[in-house]
Order: sequence, then C-alpha cells, then structure tokens
Amino acid sequence: MSISRRCEIPPTAGLPLEWEDFRAKPRSLSATLARFLSIPPPIMTCSGTAALIMALRTLQQRLPGRSRLIVPAYTCPLVALAAHFCPGLKIIPCDLLPNSIDLCPQQLASLCNEQTLAVVVTHLAGRVADTDTALAIAKSVGAAVIEDAAQSLGAQDGEDSLGLKGDIGFFSLAIGKGLTSAEGGVLFSRDAILHQQLVAQCANGLPTNIRWEITRTLQLFSYKLFYRPDRLFWVYGRALRRAIARGDSVAAVGDDFSIADIPLHRLGVKRQRVAAAATARLPAYLAEGKIRAQRRLAQLSQLPGVKVLDDGPGKQGVWPFLMVMMPSQRERDAAMQRLWTAGLGVTRLFINTLPDYPDVVPLLGDTLSLSNAQDFARRTLSVSNSHWLTDEKFAAILHVLRQSLLNASSD
Ligand SMILES: *Cc1c(COP(=O)(O)O)cnc(C)c1O
Repeated sequence: MSISRRCEIPPTAGLPLEWEDFRAKPRSLSATLARFLSIPPPIMTCSGTAALIMALRTLQQRLPGRSRLIVPAYTCPLVALAAHFCPGLKIIPCDLLPNSIDLCPQQLASLCNEQTLAVVVTHLAGRVADTDTALAIAKSVGAAVIEDAAQSLGAQDGEDSLGLKGDIGFFSLAIGKGLTSAEGGVLFSRDAILHQQLVAQCANGLPTNIRWEITRTLQLFSYKLFYRPDRLFWVYGRALRRAIARGDSVAAVGDDFSIADIPLHRLGVKRQRVAAAATARLPAYLAEGKIRAQRRLAQLSQLPGVKVLDDGPGKQGVWPFLMVMMPSQRERDAAMQRLWTAGLGVTRLFINTLPDYPDVVPLLGDTLSLSNAQDFARRTLSVSNSHWLTDEKFAAILHVLRQSLLNASSD
C-alpha cells in the first residue's frame, strides 16, 4: 500500500476544533446542549465516568442497601472502575445477545434481584441499544436504569435523545467521542426530582481543581493542534505502534485505565465555552457522517460472513466509526495484522470483557457465562468514520478485509 507512514487517520470521527471556538463569546454549554438535544439542562462534569459516579451515589442514597450494579460485560473498563468511588457497590457483568450490543434478557432477568441498584444500558459505538427490555426487567425488581450514551451524543431513540427513556442518562466529551472539551461529561434525568438530586450531588462531589483544569486545558489546545492526519502520528500513531510492537493491545487502544485516571472535579467554564462554540457545527458534521457511514456500511456488509452493527427501526444512531464483526477471530486478527498500523483509522474498541481487566477484578461480584460478549470482543474491529478517511483509503481497507477473508478460508 502506498500510504505514507506519517498519515494517521483518527480512529473515530471527532469534531475538529477551530481557533474561533477558543475566542467565541461566552455561551452556556449546558443550555446549548439542552437546546440541541431537547433534554433538561444537563449537569456538566469532568468526565463521563464522573457523571456515572455522581449518578450511582445519588441512587445509593435513594435506594439504600442495594449493592449490585449490572453492566454489559463488554464495555469501557472505566464503567466498572466507577464502583471504586461508590463504597459497597459490586459490578455484575451481564452477557450480550449474540452479534449484538444488547443485554441478554434471560441472563439480565436471572441477575436482577432486590439487591440490584441499577442496570446500565450502553449505547455502544453510536448505536441505539434496546432500553425498553432492560427497563421492564429492572423495574420488576425496583432497580433504576442508567443509559450510558458516552459514545452516542446526538443519537435518537424514536423522536427523543438517548438518555431520556432510562432514569438517568450521560454522554462523554472525552477526546475522540465526537464533541470534546478534552474530558467532560453530560449528566441528566428526565425526572425533575431526580435531576435536582443529581445537581446537588455534583455541587458537593465535584470541587474546583486548578491543577486538573490546567492539564485538561493544555490537552484541549493539543487537540486543536494535533487532531489532523499529518500530525496525529505524534500524539497517537507513535504510541499505538510502540504498544503493538510489544504485544500490548490493551495499551494500544488506551484501555489500560486505573482508578488514578478518574479525578473528580468541576468542568472549567473556559473549556465549556470552547465546546459550546463547536456545538454549532455538530449537527451538520453528524449528518454528513451518517451519509458516509451508510454508504460504507452497505459496502462492508457485502463481504462474505461480515456483519456491521446498525440500528433497528425508529432508532437513529450516530457514526463515530463502523463496528465490523468478522466471521471469526482468525479473520479479524489477520485483518488487524495488516490494518492496525496502516494509519487508516482501523482499530479495536475494548480489547477484553470486564473480568479480563486485572484492575476491574476486585470490584466484580458473581459472574455467569459471558460467551457472547467474549465472542464480540474476539471478532470485532472498528473502521473510523472520520471525514479524513477518503474513498480511496476506505477502498484500501475493503481490499485488506476481502483478502483476510479469502486467506483465512483457504488455510
Ligand atoms: C468513554 C466511555 C465511558 C467513560 O467516559 P469518559 O468521559 O472517558 O470518562 C463510559 N462508557 C463508555 C461506553 C465509554 O465509551
């Protein structure tokens, strides 16, 4: 492939920043997002994980004595690490349906009991997961539902933003999730009383922290400067290649989180203003991304045995990347061998299911079979939906995928 080594396509379709965003007139990010998404004016937190921790502490106060948090077995390890900040809480991983991001209803029902605080429904990869089934099961035992829409800001279930069906919803403004403030979280509840309790919880639990604010502000400038294919190698591609060279796929995708990566503080007003200014460009950016993704989804789906995650009727997700399921781990690994360091924006999402992350293990409660979630981890790869991934580069990806399928079947 004649693609320059220094060209690095971002692995997700993050909205690039403009210098005007840093100079824009003061505007409330909460009010801007409330208007854009038709949600209650959300609480701005320092990260999606911090939003989840505030949600869990609030629920622990409302439902005292309940100690089990059920989460999809394949999700961001930060979700499980949140339990560290909520004493007494145990993480119960739940398997997925085959070839799906949805929780397995049978296993969910068998895991739910009077000890269950909440069920987390995760709208992974911009897709819209099945919240209704989880709601029915959770409600039957008096548990809450939290919608983890960290990767899906802008997605809709029917006419509504994600996060409004469950009791509590949150988005992430981390780098790479779409809109960014270099780490940030968006927390809200459709229930006015619960929303007020979340406001109070965050007012107490998220103090101002100048040191973290300076760190994140520098990261936001770095994002402005380096988030482009001719510079991304220096802040992403180089570390990725080094991690892969030493066989550390967890580090390669930045999954190597620990509790030290979860500060709890307020999201600074200046960073909020930058993100609020950038939000003006987000609807058009998401709309273009959707057209590009649907065209490419159709092409990828024609590969024999390959399935690409899509939305069911009435669900309108967003497209940070395309989640591709190969027929088996063999084809997936063969493709990654050639694509991971090709600078084409092909990578993997989370490497493992939760019990395979050492830092998560002490936080886990009882675990049933997680075979579908493990299968998902083994067979999937992600193809960036960045606008910088040209049709020519996408064709190069398709070519490698086709070859990997052929070679694996002729072995
Ligand atoms: C990124 C992510 C989170 C955590 O969000 P941060 O803002 O990075 O703390 C939670 N859940 C999922 C599914 C995520 O992808």
